[in-house]
Amino acid sequence: MTVTGSLVQTLHRINRQKADINGQLQRGPKLVAASEAKLKAAKDHVLATKDKLTKAKMAAHAKQLQMSEREQKIRSWQGKMNAAKENREYQALKDQIAADTQANLVLSDEILDLLESIDALGVELKEVEADVKTKQSEFAQVQKQVTDRRMVLESELSRVQAELDKAEAELSGDVRRDYMKLVSSKGDDGMAELDGKCCGGCYQSLTPALLDRLIMNQSIACPSCGRLVYQNLHR
Ligand SMILES: [Zn+2]
Repeated sequence: MTVTGSLVQTLHRINRQKADINGQLQRGPKLVAASEAKLKAAKDHVLATKDKLTKAKMAAHAKQLQMSEREQKIRSWQGKMNAAKENREYQALKDQIAADTQANLVLSDEILDLLESIDALGVELKEVEADVKTKQSEFAQVQKQVTDRRMVLESELSRVQAELDKAEAELSGDVRRDYMKLVSSKGDDGMAELDGKCCGGCYQSLTPALLDRLIMNQSIACPSCGRLVYQNLHR
């Protein structure tokens, strides 16, 4: 028993539509996941920035404390230096004061650097927080679009499936069994349109005898790849 090329052509078209809809259905969750991953990255960026900011503030605070403690020490040494009776004691205190004053100058530069980076981190934090808001609304939008689209696609799929069931009902016996096997392993790629004198799936040349059958609106199984081949006679 043979099957007409027109029927295989119809089956090929419907299987392609079905594969296309299924492909779109599978892309939906991937789009949602990608958008969610972007949102998570933005949130992580906020946390990391907040952490850097906290650490910078703590470091600045510690250095400011260290500086004021040292200033107190310098003041008390200055009192002792002014009251010093011995020259050696006076010189020792003077050296101490000079060393600690120098150390505080270095510390003061470090504090300035930290305050600058705290300002910069504050600006950055505002930016990354705004980015989270953007990513959040993008995520909600993608979720809604994908959900809406899924409803449309699912109704299209059931329409196409009904059309496919109807077309497949015209197949019987061995042909039906071979077709089902092909479609379950290759999907819409189990069928191919004749391309010149070649199978449109594997591009092997077909024998004149097979080409004769195709022109009579019969379908054939490609001897090289096994696809069901048909000729589009309406072209
Ligand atoms: Zn082939």
